[in-house]
Amino acid sequence: MAKSVLTESFNINENVKKRIKDAVSEGIRDFQRSRECSTGFKEPVIGYVSAKHPLFMKYLDEDICLHPKTIYRPGNTVIIHFVPFERKTAESNRGGKEPSPEWTKAFYDSMHLSMKLNGIICDTLDEVGRLHSGTNIPTDWNEEKCREEWSHKLAAYAAGMGRFGIAGSFHTELGFAGRLGSILADEHYASFEEKDLKMWDMEQVINHIKTDSKYKGAEDIRVSRQAIEACPGGAISKDGIDRKLCQARCRQINDMIPSPEVCGKCFFYDR
Ligand code: SF4
Repeated sequence: MAKSVLTESFNINENVKKRIKDAVSEGIRDFQRSRECSTGFKEPVIGYVSAKHPLFMKYLDEDICLHPKTIYRPGNTVIIHFVPFERKTAESNRGGKEPSPEWTKAFYDSMHLSMKLNGIICDTLDEVGRLHSGTNIPTDWNEEKCREEWSHKLAAYAAGMGRFGIAGSFHTELGFAGRLGSILADEHYASFEEKDLKMWDMEQVINHIKTDSKYKGAEDIRVSRQAIEACPGGAISKDGIDRKLCQARCRQINDMIPSPEVCGKCFFYDR
């Protein structure tokens, strides 16, 4: 009996995930038909991770990201959406000092799309009677920390959607170019096996993230000459990236959201 209740709940949750995926894909197609959008997007990737995932506690201890429960107490699952840009959009930004017009337009188009997708996911959760909350707004930015308080990327990392790269870029199986967003839901949509995660060395995971992001102060940083030369802000040296210099350069491009995504010149280099 208990097993059939579990199976039924699993099936219901899988149905909800399918509804979310279909609604998000349709939302992207709709948005691309609108006059305001000139960016080509590829099929979205949607990830689910439990708010109980111990990485969130570790992120909080390290002061690199809020815990989902500090944003929304009933939130048990973080739903993350990643909408990839077409390859030509990423390639248009390779080289030069200024972001390409296509890259800049994709930044704005995807910001509006991401907000729309949040609304679509919330509507879908409303239809199935679930509670939900947003995680942040696109213009949340902490000047001192040179980052947002909530990180879609760290949530996506916990969900197994990709890895970190230079300047905190996030590399999915569909590349680094795209837009991440997230929503918190009260239902348990992500399976969570505490025993599986006991195997993880959280300290090592955090060190990997820091080393791969190549911000100064992390262990074992290796940076190539090409990456140093690609930075128009002089923020990259062999010791890593100076976050303040990166932020200063990005602020010249976007005063409201001075994140590395508005520049992205170094994202092509793994070292
Ligand atoms: S200013 Fe641009 S190229 Fe330099 S580190 Fe920041 S994102 Fe990378």
